Amino acid sequence: MRKPLAIPFAFAFALALCGAAFAQERPEDRANLAELYPDVAAWNADAAKVEAQLKEFAGCRGQLGKSAARLLQCASLESDFSKRFGRLAAYANELLAHDTGEASSMELMQKLSVLETAIGEATAFEAPEILKVGRARIDAFMKQEPKLAIYRHPFDDALRRAPHTLDAKGEQILAAFNLSTGNGATTYNILADADMPWPTIKLADGTEVKLDQSAYTAQRESKNRDDRKKVMDAFFGTFKTFERTTGTTLYGTLKESTVYAKVRKYDGSLERALDANRVPKAVYDALIAATNRNLPTLHRYFRLRGKMLGVSDLRYYDIYPPLVGGGPTFTLEEAKRLTLEAVAPLGEEYVAAMKRGFDNRWMDAYPRPRKQSGAHMAGYAYDVHPYVLMNFTGNYESVSTLAHEWGHAMHTYFANKAQPFPTADYPIFTAEIASTFNEAMLLERMLKAAKTDDERLLYLGSALEGLRGTFFRQAMFAEFEREVHAAVDRGEPMTGERFSKIYGDLLRRYHGDKEGVLKVDDLYTVEWSYIPHFYTPFYVYQYATSIAASSLFAQDVIDGKPGARERYLGVLKAGGSDYPYDLVKKAGVDLATPAPYEALVARMNRIMDEIEAILAKKVKSNG
Ligand SMILES: [Zn+2]
Repeated sequence: MRKPLAIPFAFAFALALCGAAFAQERPEDRANLAELYPDVAAWNADAAKVEAQLKEFAGCRGQLGKSAARLLQCASLESDFSKRFGRLAAYANELLAHDTGEASSMELMQKLSVLETAIGEATAFEAPEILKVGRARIDAFMKQEPKLAIYRHPFDDALRRAPHTLDAKGEQILAAFNLSTGNGATTYNILADADMPWPTIKLADGTEVKLDQSAYTAQRESKNRDDRKKVMDAFFGTFKTFERTTGTTLYGTLKESTVYAKVRKYDGSLERALDANRVPKAVYDALIAATNRNLPTLHRYFRLRGKMLGVSDLRYYDIYPPLVGGGPTFTLEEAKRLTLEAVAPLGEEYVAAMKRGFDNRWMDAYPRPRKQSGAHMAGYAYDVHPYVLMNFTGNYESVSTLAHEWGHAMHTYFANKAQPFPTADYPIFTAEIASTFNEAMLLERMLKAAKTDDERLLYLGSALEGLRGTFFRQAMFAEFEREVHAAVDRGEPMTGERFSKIYGDLLRRYHGDKEGVLKVDDLYTVEWSYIPHFYTPFYVYQYATSIAASSLFAQDVIDGKPGARERYLGVLKAGGSDYPYDLVKKAGVDLATPAPYEALVARMNRIMDEIEAILAKKVKSNG
């Protein structure tokens, strides 16, 4: 089944929602949802159609092995209601995202969620039944009926799970229990997004700030060091008050993983999570081993950061202020133009598709009151087009985010164009390759045209910060997840205090506390409780593997290596037609080996060499 998936932008850059001078929002800067449905009545009519199709689909139970023709009929029916559901999801999600306070949109989302559960229940018989029919018979059907070819991969995916699939009754029970899971995550989200009693602090300049999530991401970048410390102390002090509570909610999520791993006969929670897309465990292990081996490079970055900030005793609250202040601002039109220029090496077809999206309201560009924060791409309306949501502010990070989200959008566009619906959707494992690839291309474009050393420093600094946040930090999260899930798999109880201890040890090791690189105060070891991604187990490692892969792909395209562009575009066009690790490997990047991680680290060192050379030149010219 094709599950709806919005791809959030994981690293909330500070979005200065108040007071910034935005260009006047024009109608063409708003996404046009009418292409999905003219109105809510049309949405409801389509939802009713899905319900009717589900009833029809019930007739497929016990029929899948009957004949090639019947199998095709049932598979086509499922494909059709899944596609319809994707379109419903795109509309409901984006409508709410455009105005999060609109009650009628919330109602649509609830209807959507009920429909999703109904689909899950209605299709629960399918996997066990396919297994019962067996590979031999499925293969024979495929030979008889060529139209079944588009289902080869989904069938193969179901068949390979035989050792982890229960009988029909068991699957039915698991599907029904879905409704009662996820409470740890829900409770956490309500606490962290709404109920948390955010503290108000007074900054050095006398302004008072209520330190909620978005104020925290903005204020932790403050140039004033005392303010940064005050901000982190107050913010994590608040989380510390709820260490017991968030320890319980996270433990609840981990226990769910353990139970599912157990009933599905996996060796552990990690094995189960990776098997969802047949990612070898060697990928996870290679990532964490490479990261640990290369901590000296991360420490070099922190030392350089200390030097550039003029701080000799670096603390954890010093990691966020930008290395270079100020910098140029960009209009939305400039951001679009720069992104188009950046991706030009990918060829005319890619550029033309992106331009078409820019010109035809696929994007909701500017911040507005009650609009969802951050940025994301919603790609689940297969026969319409991808939608992008931005909160464009005009700084360089905003331009980079635009390139990132449009990387997702083009991935969806090319996959949908090249693939039939059943194999179009791609997993996160390849998704973040397409987005971070575009960031790397944008950096190249900006560096090439930069006129001054200061401008170059700005882009290089931003790229470094991206590598720290997307590679090292996510790998650290991945290591944390591996450890705490294994503990729960072993039957060990977890508490907030124990999470802080494990996280704190990692935080200090990664930041070189012992080596005197950067000191981490005890209070900040509660940071794990601030990371919502931990409620989607073993998700974040894919940011790290993706940026490693995209660094290699981008380098090859920039260097003009023969076939590099086609290999990369091939990954996009393949969508979900093969297992993602295999797809990337076939395109030349093996994420189970050290090579891509070492290449990323080498790139990080090259950027630091360049920054240090510029700084040395500046010292010389100043002296
Ligand atoms: Zn992304």
